[in-house]
Amino acid sequence: MGTHLPVSATTIAPREVANLTLPTPFGGWETHAFEWAGSIHLCLCRGRMGDGEDVLVRMHSECVTGDALGSLRCDCGIQLRHAFRAIAAEGRGVLVYSTGHEGRGIGLANKLRAYVLQDRGFDTAEANEHLGFRVDERTFGDVAACLRALGVRSVRLMSNNRDKAAALEAAGIPVRAVVALVTTFNQGIEVERLSGVDSGHRELLAAIDAWIESLERRKQEG
Ligand SMILES: [Zn+2]
Repeated sequence: MGTHLPVSATTIAPREVANLTLPTPFGGWETHAFEWAGSIHLCLCRGRMGDGEDVLVRMHSECVTGDALGSLRCDCGIQLRHAFRAIAAEGRGVLVYSTGHEGRGIGLANKLRAYVLQDRGFDTAEANEHLGFRVDERTFGDVAACLRALGVRSVRLMSNNRDKAAALEAAGIPVRAVVALVTTFNQGIEVERLSGVDSGHRELLAAIDAWIESLERRKQEG
């Protein structure tokens, strides 16, 4: 009888499916796309990894409503842009954008169902449990494997969720520090998300407006 080796993130290699430069309002990013169990993890890299220590990292879970549509139900879109800016300012880091992590791993349709339940008075945990899920269905072994493939050995993690740091550590990547991404949502300021736009979103919308204006100006000039 052979020995059964435990299968873990440290023994499985993610498959790189594309490598390209992605231009964004925050500059160009060397992008490595890894496929893992049907999900794509886009690793947007800035600078040289060097010894791979203390790399500034954001593990961002896909949130179509927040990231793409600017939904005011969460602050994912704002956190994403803060992370882009912080890594660009530092000149070295990785932003991992993970598909398949929508709604903390329950998928878009179930996330929307959970919103409906929340509007009826359920809190986030109760809504997920009512739908038959745990509060967080994500594991981060997949992201850890991608980071390892990029030569990242330890990180400073940009997150407001300490569980993410613990999950990454459990997957074998030491977290040297956790850097909070402060938005009006987590400063305890009441957000009038159904009736208005909070200042974080106003800031985001102003940045998008300025970006569109600059594109239009460039078009007129060019
Ligand atoms: Zn979100």
